[in-house]
Amino acid sequence: MASLKCETIKRPLDETACDWCGRPLLVGELLYVDLEHGTAYCSPACAEHDHFDRGYGPVCPGVSRW
Ligand SMILES: [Zn+2]
Repeated sequence: MASLKCETIKRPLDETACDWCGRPLLVGELLYVDLEHGTAYCSPACAEHDHFDRGYGPVCPGVSRW
């Protein structure tokens, strides 16, 4: 499991969009930051999808869950 950090967005400066589904993440919303990859997501589920999409999935024995 990647190191996910959950934060609330406090400043308009920190507003961004989910790196997986593109959902806008605005002030007051929860943001999940993947410290390993420097990416941000709207939910842990999105973070997980993105990892599999990048080839950390079934081909890698260390991460295989299927
Ligand atoms: Zn998302």
